[in-house]
Amino acid sequence: MHSDSFVVREPNEHRTTAPHVLPIYATSSFVFDNIDQGIEIFKNIESGHAYSRYANPTVDAVAQKIADLEGFGLDLAAEAVLTSSGMSAISTLLMGLLQTGDKVLSQGNLYGGTTELLRAILQPFGVETIFTDLRDLGEVARLLDAEPAIRLLYCETPANPTLACVDIAALSALAHQHGAWCAIDNTFATPLLQQPFAHGVDFIVHSTTKYLNGHGNSIAGVVVGRDRSLLRQKIWRAMKLAGTNCSPFEAWLTHNGLKTLALRMERHCANALALAQYLEQHPAVARVNYPGLASHPDHALATRQMRGGYGGMLSFELKGGLEAGLRCMNRIRFCTLAPTLGDVDTLILHPASSSHLNVAREIREQNGITDGMIRVSVGIELVGDIIADLEQAIEAM
Ligand SMILES: *Cc1c(COP(=O)(O)O)cnc(C)c1O
Repeated sequence: MHSDSFVVREPNEHRTTAPHVLPIYATSSFVFDNIDQGIEIFKNIESGHAYSRYANPTVDAVAQKIADLEGFGLDLAAEAVLTSSGMSAISTLLMGLLQTGDKVLSQGNLYGGTTELLRAILQPFGVETIFTDLRDLGEVARLLDAEPAIRLLYCETPANPTLACVDIAALSALAHQHGAWCAIDNTFATPLLQQPFAHGVDFIVHSTTKYLNGHGNSIAGVVVGRDRSLLRQKIWRAMKLAGTNCSPFEAWLTHNGLKTLALRMERHCANALALAQYLEQHPAVARVNYPGLASHPDHALATRQMRGGYGGMLSFELKGGLEAGLRCMNRIRFCTLAPTLGDVDTLILHPASSSHLNVAREIREQNGITDGMIRVSVGIELVGDIIADLEQAIEAM
């Protein structure tokens, strides 16, 4: 984006040349030249900023950059709203689109926070979610037929932590045939590896906390809409009224990270594939989940709807189960034990004792999340260092 697009007109005579790097507009409000201009801005007749909860030049520049990435090369004018977290992007989307009596159709293996939001917050407001296996398209069609109140089909692919994939094009086509919207959480893939608008979805959400920033130093989220006016009417309004706006500083950090997205994703993908291949041939490893491996059940689908790689996330299980998994994690020296993902550093997590601690074992196991499973967010370090660390952690057992 050309830097001009985030320069606001200075009200005084001290004009300067445009900044090269996006400035942080740390201001709650903006001045009007006169009351007529103020009225026109509030009525949306003249464009301009009024109050930073509504819009802020730093935040807007980052939102538009992500919208441009999601819409790149497609014949559409996507627009985005940046929010205070990934969860606030998801709650803003749901609040903006749904009302009491509406239903959501979704999958059982969503990001844990999203499942809890749908069950604990949306359900008491009278918005029910039907959880099903979205890979079973016949069942999806049957449910959409049987439940005309379904207004939104919400999916996530590849999903945490087994990297199971769903068919984005087929799901959005089914949703549209039944007059529902289709939304996707594209956090794991990023627009570099998967462009859901090309497969027909209406809305895309991200936790920009993860790959889009990539450096683990900000919490933010985004909702991108393929239809500008729908996004403004429904999502921007919900953001403005619920106050889920992103802070300019968090937006700025995200913007800094975005500059290296392509470089980082290339390395994340290459490192993850190499680590997956290493683990798959290791005699102590029972299974490896990585969509780039021919052994992954959704490899063909991932190959069809992703491009340039399969992302930086993988999970694996040791033959020794839970005990072996925990021992391996305690021996990790180079990588970091941490619950986030998508950072430049390799991060290791034990889902059964952390992200999925509150999920009943049967439900966990139905979704392939076993007690011994270890999740790795593969970073951009030299791949030999990552492999050597896991090698010594497994071998030492
Ligand atoms: C982290 C994450 C979220 C939530 O994002 P926050 O920024 O932590 O609020 C949502 N979806 C996915 C897939 C995530 O990984």
